This record gives sequence, structure tokens and C-alpha cells, in this order.
Amino acid sequence: MQFYSTNGKAPMADLRKAVVKGLAEDKGLYMPQEIKTLPKAFFDNIQDMSFRDIAYNVASAFFGEDVDGDALYDIVADTLSFDCPVVKVNDNIYSLELFHGPTLAFKDVGARFMARLLRYFLCSQNADKEQTVNVLVATSGDTGSAVANGFLGVDGIHVYVLYPKGKVSPIQECQFTTLGQNITAIEVDGVFDDCQALVKSAFMDEDLNKALRLTSANSINVARFLPQAFYYFNAYAQMKKKGLADNLVVCVPSGNFGNICAGLFAKRMGLPIKRFIAANNANSVFYEFLQTGEYLPRPSVQTIANAMDVGDPSNFARIFDLYGHSHAAIVKDISGTTFSDEQIAETINDVFSHTGYLCDPHGACGYRALEEGLDADEVGVFLETAHPAKFKQTVDAIIEGDVEIPAPLAAFMQGKKESVPMSKDFADFKQFLLKA
Ligand SMILES: *Cc1c(COP(=O)(O)O)cnc(C)c1O
Repeated sequence: MQFYSTNGKAPMADLRKAVVKGLAEDKGLYMPQEIKTLPKAFFDNIQDMSFRDIAYNVASAFFGEDVDGDALYDIVADTLSFDCPVVKVNDNIYSLELFHGPTLAFKDVGARFMARLLRYFLCSQNADKEQTVNVLVATSGDTGSAVANGFLGVDGIHVYVLYPKGKVSPIQECQFTTLGQNITAIEVDGVFDDCQALVKSAFMDEDLNKALRLTSANSINVARFLPQAFYYFNAYAQMKKKGLADNLVVCVPSGNFGNICAGLFAKRMGLPIKRFIAANNANSVFYEFLQTGEYLPRPSVQTIANAMDVGDPSNFARIFDLYGHSHAAIVKDISGTTFSDEQIAETINDVFSHTGYLCDPHGACGYRALEEGLDADEVGVFLETAHPAKFKQTVDAIIEGDVEIPAPLAAFMQGKKESVPMSKDFADFKQFLLKA
């Protein structure tokens, strides 16, 4: 499969290049040249298939030409070592729980798949002169933990997670500073933008690129975003088994819009989802685009659903491209909502007291959008993108309770924190990498 750039000024790339490079030369995002429709027989039988088999069929459509079939099956099976169940919350609203992976958030799926696909490409290169590949990732919290855990223990790859000192929550920090092995956490004396600047400078630095193999595990990478389509198909299968899949509305709490973009790809592959809702917090650039047709990015504002604090969603370019740059086509498939922190808190409280189901601040946006926007004949599924314990302080205060910390998260918190202190000066970071 060939991949083109959304900016249209870079040469086509094969899968290997798209995965290793991440971003095209013209700074555009890679798009697959073709989106295959899956056959009717697949949809007829989907409710009786395992998650792995469903995912393998979806993966084959994108990666089957470039990855050996058995290897692809193993990559899929190894990625999906946990479930993504659909759970009933209220009359016609269901939660697709994407937080049963190692870091309790949906990003585990993409990060794990990408680590294994990258490893596959490295192995199939000339194995005799194998050189470690160094993955650099800047994080404000959630991405670092998903990438670090996704790549943990994968041979031939070393991950450097750069994070701003004192700016990530203790729960987030322990998920990438306690791992050891092939993961190095770097605590930068600065803010998130400084971390991102260090990573960008490293990719552009000639000496570093001569001495080391460097790559990024950014969320715009096709190997991270496309595998997210797996669980949309699996959610449909679960709803079909319940006899509830005829008028399905899927609502996705969105920040950089990679997750919903994977769902839109699934629909393009033939998955019978009637329509999508993109739920935003106060960062409502996409919501406004839907209303006005104008895309006006601006700096993000801080909210209690902070993984969605994005003022210029990177995957907007993919969605715009997928719909042929047509606002009219986009609004046929997607509607939007925007909620304030007060509304998010109120929703967490209401849902918990009326149903006993505890949403995290991101999932709460998804629930509320369905509650306000479903027609009587529709059934809604919202993506519960993280476990509420990941946002324990916020959620505890809202429900005046004490959210139980699941065992995997508690295990991280028991670990010993190890990180390398670093200034925000690129020369220091460069020295460190060259000596590592
Ligand atoms: C990353 C993240 C989101 C936003 O996902 P996008 O793909 O960036 O739209 C939503 N919720 C949680 C918990 C996240 O970590």
C-alpha cells in the first residue's frame, strides 16, 4: 500500500517509510491510497468472531500487502492482550470501555501496535548490522505512558520520554518513570513546549542523525492511528449480538481527533455506523468548524478533561482529506458538542448517582453528547477513553468519594521513580544522547 501526504507536495511512501518517518517531507499527514471495503460475509458473521479475528481482518486491509500474514496476526494478537467491552449505562446508551490495557487508556492499542510493527520492519531489514532505533517522545502526560508501555521490552528499540518537571500528575509520572529496561524518562526543567522543542531539534540535528537512528512515536503516525479502527468493529459486533446495531450512533471524546478519524475510516470500510458525534470540552475549534465551515485554530485552554486540551487538532487534515475537503460531506456524518468543566462535572455526578456508572472527565463528554443528541430510534455508544482512576483527584472531588485504584495502576505507583534531569538547552540533550 502506498501512502500520500495530505499536503500533496511529498512523494508517495510505502508503509515502512510512513511508519518510520511518521510525518511526510512536506509536513503533511500520511493517508492510505486506498481504503478497502470489507466483504458482506465479514459483516454477516462479525458477531460470532473474536476480537482478534475481527482486528486481523481490518489490519489485513491496510497492512496485508506489506506485512506477512502470520506476522501480522501475531502483531494483532500481541497488541490486543486485553478486552474492549461494551457496557450498558442507561436506557439506550452504552460505554465502550477502552481502558483495560496497561496504562488504562485507549492509546495503549495504537502504541502497542506501532511498537510491534516497527520491530517487524527492523527485523526484516538486514539483521546482521542491526542498530538500535531510538524513539523520542515528548509528553504532557498520557502519550508518554502509552508509548513507554507499548514499547516496553521490545528488542532493538530504546524509548526516551521527555516530560516537563512538576507538570504531570504523580499517577501519570509513575507510568513512565518506573519501567526501566529500554525506557528512559527525561525530566526537563521547563514546560511541555520545551520538551517538544528538544525532540524537534534532535530530529533536525545532523550529528545526531549520523550517529543514531531516531524516530518518533507521535500520534499522527499511521501505525498508531489506524489500529484504533479495530475496536469500532468489535463494538459493532457486540451491539449486533445484542440486536442493537441497526441505528448506531458512536460518540468520541476528541482532542487531536485521531481516535474519531479511525472510526471514520471504519465507516468508509463498510462498518454500518449511522453517524458520529465528536464531543469536545471547552476547546471547541472543531465544533465551530462544523457550525461555520471555517477552521480557526487557536491556543488551547486548560480543562478537567485535559487530554482533549487541543487548539489545533492534528488529524483535522486527515478528516478534511477523507471527505474531499467538503464541509457539507463532513456534517452529514459528524455532528459536534462542546462542554464546560461545570457541565462535565455535573455529568459525572448525575450519571454516577442515577446509574452507578463512573465516567472519567473525557468519557463524561461522550455520555452527555449522546444524552442530549440521540433520537428515540437510535442507540448510542460512547468511547470511555480512560479509567476514572487516572483522574482520581478530579473525580474524587466531584463525586465526594474515593475512586478505587485498579491493580495495574497501583503497581506502577509502588515502583521506584527513575528519571534523568535535563535542562531545556538542546546542547545538553544532544550530549546526553550521544553518550547514551
Ligand atoms: C488522547 C486522549 C483523548 C483524545 O483522543 P484524540 O485521538 O487525540 O482525539 C481523549 N481521552 C483521553 C483519555 C485521551 O488520553
